[in-house]
Amino acid sequence: MGKVKKRARKISRKKIKARKLKRKKAPSKPRTSKVVMKKCIKCKAPLSGFMHKYIGRPIFGIKPSTKKKGYCNKCE
Ligand SMILES: [Zn+2]
Repeated sequence: MGKVKKRARKISRKKIKARKLKRKKAPSKPRTSKVVMKKCIKCKAPLSGFMHKYIGRPIFGIKPSTKKKGYCNKCE
């Protein structure tokens, strides 16, 4: 919990204001292109996207199965 407080203090109020302005000025993100997260049907492990790229594949070695669609290589 202490870490969060320290971070909040580092960011000055001016910066927060600037950030908020930037967000307002920035064009609204096209939410129509919804990122569909592919997941293993059996174990719900992420097979695509951010979670797979940075967590599923390097840490757990999860890959989409080449034999069964919708399953990971561990559940095939
Ligand atoms: Zn699985």
